[in-house]
Amino acid sequence: MRILLVEDDPTLRAQLRAALAEAGYAVDEAADGREALHLGETEPFDAVVLDLGLPVLDGLSVLRRWREAGRAMPVLILTARDTWHEKVVGIDAGGDDYLAKPFHIEELLARVRALIRRAQGLASPMLACGAVALDTRSGRVTVHGRPVSLTAHEFRLLAYLMHRPGTVVSRTELTEHLYAQDHDRDSNTIEVFVARLRRKLPPAAIETVRGLGYRLVAVP
Ligand code: CA
Repeated sequence: MRILLVEDDPTLRAQLRAALAEAGYAVDEAADGREALHLGETEPFDAVVLDLGLPVLDGLSVLRRWREAGRAMPVLILTARDTWHEKVVGIDAGGDDYLAKPFHIEELLARVRALIRRAQGLASPMLACGAVALDTRSGRVTVHGRPVSLTAHEFRLLAYLMHRPGTVVSRTELTEHLYAQDHDRDSNTIEVFVARLRRKLPPAAIETVRGLGYRLVAVP
């Protein structure tokens, strides 16, 4: 799952980046509105955390331009405290949720998780596909109720597939959603991670759909 983090305050940006990375997301960063606009228009993100007060181009303008261009990714806006009108205008501009500063990072993470699962039509934070279960709150993965230990990359891959059970996901899509832009991308590494993840899941849980990609299927 890949997140665009837009925040001009370097200290807060570094904190949020660290917390999002720790929670298992690939994170791209933008420090001003123009950079944010460009990234949001050209790269596929699973969610965006967007500060409204930004240099060069303000966050509301960025959001409006994304929506006018048909970019539909979920957006969590960050507003200054006690500015209720910013929240209203932000949501009317296409924001999906808001958080007023200062906030607890745990709350931001919970809102991001909710936005990502709702974008896939999932209501529960507990994801299940056959014998495989993933608790999006704790990052805990179990197979037949037994905990499975995954590396950060394996977790990111499984989380992406668990949000889309039964859907064929191409290697290109996985590459775009599992790595930030600055990451050295090589679609062959996806095959390596799929192979490693398969060894930790029930046999045949990850189907290869020839020429198209991979699909997570419910295996008892
Ligand atoms: Ca700001």
